[in-house]
Order: sequence, then C-alpha cells, then structure tokens
Amino acid sequence: MIITRVETFAVPPRWLLCRVETDEGVVGWGEPVVEGRAATVRTAVHELAELLVGKDPARIEDHWQLMTKGSFYRGGPVLSSAVAGLDQALWDIAGKTLGVPVHVLLGGPVRDRVRAYCWVGGDEPSAIGEAVTAQVEAGFTAVKMNASGRMNRLPTVSDIDAVVARAAAAREALGPDRDFAVDFHGRFTAAAARKTLPHLAPYSPLFAEEPVLPEYTHLLGDIVASSPVPIATGERLYSRTDVLPALQAGVAVLQPDLSHAGGISEVRRIGALAETFDIPLAPHCPLGPVSLAASLQIAFATPNFLIQEQSIGIHYNDGAEVLDYVVDPEVFRFHEGHINRPTAPGLGIEVDERAVRAADSTAPDWRGPIWRHSDGSFAEW
Ligand SMILES: [Mg+2]
Repeated sequence: MIITRVETFAVPPRWLLCRVETDEGVVGWGEPVVEGRAATVRTAVHELAELLVGKDPARIEDHWQLMTKGSFYRGGPVLSSAVAGLDQALWDIAGKTLGVPVHVLLGGPVRDRVRAYCWVGGDEPSAIGEAVTAQVEAGFTAVKMNASGRMNRLPTVSDIDAVVARAAAAREALGPDRDFAVDFHGRFTAAAARKTLPHLAPYSPLFAEEPVLPEYTHLLGDIVASSPVPIATGERLYSRTDVLPALQAGVAVLQPDLSHAGGISEVRRIGALAETFDIPLAPHCPLGPVSLAASLQIAFATPNFLIQEQSIGIHYNDGAEVLDYVVDPEVFRFHEGHINRPTAPGLGIEVDERAVRAADSTAPDWRGPIWRHSDGSFAEW
C-alpha cells in the first residue's frame, strides 16, 4: 500500500481537516490546525505531504521522524500541528487496514469509559450557576470555565472577588461529588496567579489551568509550591522536550493537545514521560471530531489518564459543530458524563466526507481576539 494523495479542508467554525488517500482505497483522516492560523498550517501540511506521497503509510514512526526532524528548523505550534494531523491520519489508516481501533494497536484498552468535561464559559460570573446546573442535569460530573476576563497585571480586590464568585457559584451548583476546573488562560502574571490561587482553595477546584503563559514555565515551580490548588498546563507545549520542564515543576495535570503536540505518536510518548512523574493526562481538545477521536484513542490506551476535554455544543463553535462532520454521532454520545469505548477501526469515527467537502473553504478566517488593558496596552486573551 502506498499513499497517493493528501488533501486539506478548511471547515467552519475554524478547523482544518486532512485526508490521506492510499492506492488500496483505505483513507485516513487527521485534524492539523492551530486556532487562528489554519491557512498557515494548511501550507505546512502540503509541504510535509511531499514526504508521504508514494510511501508506505504503515511506517508511521519513520514518517513522524522525517516530518518532525527532516528539516533543520523544527518544532513550534505550526509545524507540530501539521505533523499531528498527518500522524493521526496514518494511525487511522493503520487501524482500518488491520480492522482494529487505534487504542488496540497501542496495547489495548485500559478503561471501559472515559470521563469528559464540558465548558461552561466564565466570562460573566453571573451566568456560571445556571450554565453549570444545565450540565449537571445533562449528566456531566465535571465542567471547566475561565477564571477571569481581562486581568490586571496585579489583581485588585474586585478582580479576585470576581474569580472567587465564579468558583463559589460553580461549587454551589455542583455539590461535593462533582468537579470544576478553572482556566487562567495565561491571562495572569506569575505574581497575580500566586496572589489569586489561595482564594480558590475553599472551593476545591479539580485544577487551575495555565496560571502563567508557557514562556514562563521556569516560574511554574514556584507557583506549584505556593498554590493550594492543583496546577495544570500543556495545551501550548508541543513535544516531550517542551513538557519536561512543566513535569519537573510538579504540575498536577498535563494537557497535551492531540492536534498540536505531534499527534498520537508524540502524545503517547508524552503520556509515558508524565507517568514517570506520577502525573496524569487531561488532553486538551476544543477542536473538531478527528481531534476528539484521536484524544479518545489515547485516553483508552493510557493508564495515567484523568479526564477528557471536548467542545460538543460549545457556544464558540459558530456556524458548525463537532457532530456535523461525522456520519454516526452516536460514537460521541455521553453516558453519565462519560464516552463509551469506540470499537470501529482506526480512529473509531466515520468522517462525513460529503459534509466536509461541501464545507471546505466556507470557514471564516477566524482570529483570536485582541484585548487591551484600560491604558491601551496589549492584554492577554
Ligand atoms: Mg486552556
């Protein structure tokens, strides 16, 4: 079997899918995208595809090595995301060729179902209680929200009160047997994070995510040491090398993204590395169906797995939804806040190719918002 063609599709709301075709009719799908940079990644995917066309798709590791290292300049979100999507597609082909789900190729299932959480917003603290209650009624056992909106470099009393108000509203709606996580979204300076985190302790969040930007990972150890709340990070780290300092800093949870961190091949290794630090994975996934399917394959094969992010029905998926691009949405159905083990070959989903082709190039050129502080200077979103 050889790879004959690689196609890409830019689809709403802001996703990029890749389709890898073989001469024997087996097709694999991947989701190589950086939110807000889909066109840039699309170009990278087609450059990397030159390494794949005419080659045996089963040589996944060799392809990963060449795609990742076969150029003097390597790494970073754009290239690692392009590799990630193509790697997912190669695993999809391998599973379909052998008639087994990818997690079986990774050693077989280590759990029967995967706990998932959903997003409940957080930009407006007043809306949190209602949003959380709706998800509890839908059966979820965990939710996540933003800790804040735009954040001052050192928070005022009311900045901190607003963070605490969100946590208190979530805890009240959840009771003692369910969890919420708060995403600091890199909006806080290290000092702001240290000042704020102790105020969250009475509400016992599952974790606080990205208390600082990834470029300040060298400060993470101090934050971990001073925080009574478990710290998570990882969605903006793209390889084993990138995650190592965060693991050494003692984070509680690592959040690699299957569409950013080199795909199934590299996240599998990141999971094994995290295991040596006794740290579980909570794969980041605000993206589309192929990214979620790849995340689930890792979740079912990784012993040190905690919980899965997903964005089905999320408010920011304007114009299209995760389930719009799969033939059978049943594979992503939630049962008491969990997803059952997919048994179909490959990534376990059938991409709705007609829907994808029809949606191609109708995606808006989505960009991340630009925020500014009250003095007009740049603020982290
Ligand atoms: Mg996040």
